[in-house]
Amino acid sequence: MSARLLLASGNAHKLSELRRLVAGAGLDLTVSGLSDLACWSDPVEDGATFEDNALIKAEAGHRATGGAVLADDSGLEVDVLGRMPGVRSARWAGPGASDQDNLDLVLRQLADVEPARRGARFVCAVALVQPTRPPVVLRRAVEGVVLTSPRGENGFGYDPIFLPDGFDLTTAEMSAAQKDAISHRGQALRALLPDLALIGADSD
Ligand code: IMP
Repeated sequence: MSARLLLASGNAHKLSELRRLVAGAGLDLTVSGLSDLACWSDPVEDGATFEDNALIKAEAGHRATGGAVLADDSGLEVDVLGRMPGVRSARWAGPGASDQDNLDLVLRQLADVEPARRGARFVCAVALVQPTRPPVVLRRAVEGVVLTSPRGENGFGYDPIFLPDGFDLTTAEMSAAQKDAISHRGQALRALLPDLALIGADSD
């Protein structure tokens, strides 16, 4: 029987990315998301770093289910904004802000910033908590620049204004496979594959 892994996220994009990666790596894992849980309340994400918040979410999921739980925390760091929105990426324009509100605010904040000073990166920390092994936490990033106007319809969040270094396409103009190959989350999840492959090994 395949081992089970819960992704402690309600974000359907993240769940799809994880399922693509697990399938692509040939891992025998059944991946579910928070919408599959009967009972869940979001923990307070009050960590100072992406790593702290990823671990808060993964530990909450493990407490709720007792099983193997993966969580990620991610966001956009803009150099000229002192690496903000950072851990506040999802609520940059205020509580309940939409992706569009957050993206518009970053564009307004960078309105007078010249191209050479628009450096930024997408960062992703992933945390894996499971019953019989110590937690694993790691972070990956993809460097790029913030454009002056949105381009592309794919992806989510700040994708339409983020141009990764060395590419002519924003991450919203890339296909899912192109984005997975370079993205912060793709890199972090691939780095975690050896640990994901061990899930369930102790109970076999
Ligand atoms: P989290 O769900 O708490 O990790 O918040 C992540 C926030 O960072 C999202 O709501 C997006 O605004 C932004 N973000 C993270 N990853 C990406 C990405 O791959 N593309 C675009 N925006 C992202």
